[in-house]
Amino acid sequence: IKVSEVSKWFKRRGHMTEALRDIHLELAQGTFVSLIGPSGCGKSTLLRIVGGLADVDRGEVTIGGLSPLEAQSRKQFGFVPQSPALFPWRTVLENMNLPFEVNVRGNSAAKLVEREDPVELLKSVGLGDFVNAYAKELSGGMQQRVGIARAFGSGAPILLMDEPFSALDEITREKISYQLLDIWESHQKTVLFVTHSLREAVLLSDKVVVMSARPGRVAAVIDIGLPRP
Ligand code: ADP
Ligand code: ADP
Repeated sequence: IKVSEVSKWFKRRGHMTEALRDIHLELAQGTFVSLIGPSGCGKSTLLRIVGGLADVDRGEVTIGGLSPLEAQSRKQFGFVPQSPALFPWRTVLENMNLPFEVNVRGNSAAKLVEREDPVELLKSVGLGDFVNAYAKELSGGMQQRVGIARAFGSGAPILLMDEPFSALDEITREKISYQLLDIWESHQKTVLFVTHSLREAVLLSDKVVVMSARPGRVAAVIDIGLPRP
């Protein structure tokens, strides 16, 4: 993922605010990258730009040479939002299958994706016993684990996670963090992970991008480079 001198403004109450200024990042394939910084520094905006959900006003983003929109249409991205978008009255397994149902109708490239066993993915986040439960029966933490397992099984090489643990209590966060690390280590996916937690960023990442606010800029890029737990 290459982000070159990207700037972004939003118009609000008649005047323009600069959300991102001169963002420059090069993120190697297969790395786990955290984006951290104060509220409003543009973390979500940057994630959305990379994923082709928002435009830049200046600069350029490329994903393996493709524009974000091209990459999106080739199913390069899996999204894990703050609250998992599960259908409450479908089972966990049916929810795992959703990306494939949509893809078969939409994009033929998706058919080429080698399918991973959804039950194995669920086991790897500790949900082997809940395959046939309705999504609505699960706790918030369990639902978020389904969202993560689904993203890892979707065939997309790049996962964009926008504070996926923000609704969870501290203990649950910690447990899920380790499960996220486990599943990440057995897949070779690039992860862009937005978080408020410096602890989480350091625990999980190869690289921590620290942003400052008003306007959103990259204040520091820290290579963690420690052996993983
Ligand atoms: P973060 O994720 O770091 O909290 P955001 O990316 O959500 O920051 O927001 C960055 C800045 O851009 C903030 O000042 C926010 O108010 C503004 N912003 C984000 N999205 C919009 C929007 N759709 N319209 C107007 N302003 C926006
Ligand atoms: P999490 O840490 O994932 O948020 P909880 O702390 O809510 O999970 O639940 C702890 C454990 O209780 C779960 O791992 C699961 O084994 C069990 N549990 C929670 N909700 C349910 C449910 N609706 N049905 C059966 N077991 C559940």
